[in-house]
Amino acid sequence: MTSRPDPWWLSALCAQTDPEIFFPQGKGSSPAAARKVCARCPVTAQCLEDALRTGAGGVRGGLTEHERRSMQPRAPKPARRPNPGPPECGTTRGYRAHLRRGEPTCEPCREANRATVTARRERLRRDAA
Ligand code: SF4
Ligand SMILES: [Zn+2]
Repeated sequence: MTSRPDPWWLSALCAQTDPEIFFPQGKGSSPAAARKVCARCPVTAQCLEDALRTGAGGVRGGLTEHERRSMQPRAPKPARRPNPGPPECGTTRGYRAHLRRGEPTCEPCREANRATVTARRERLRRDAA
């Protein structure tokens, strides 16, 4: 712990204490002893900030790892896929979208679909020839 470069760390009370108490583990263990030391420590704020930034383990700044995690802002939920919106009328895509939705097709879509079908037929005819 003495190799920490930050000058605030030099004033850390835990450096003069049994480090084990800052890592309470197992049944019946408690962070109370570490909290008591932190409560008297002159660099609690710096320590806590450092722990939040680095994700350090154990009791730091008077808080357990779990308590610090719950302080962190949660990652935003992934955005929902945008609503595809109304079909692009006047395209074959729009025409198919009308059919998929069970709605009546509109004239611009029928027109676009007719053009696509006609073009495909022409291509087939050309290829067959
Ligand atoms: S707040 Fe607690 S863990 Fe942080 S430096 Fe002080 S005694 Fe150590
Ligand atoms: Zn349409």
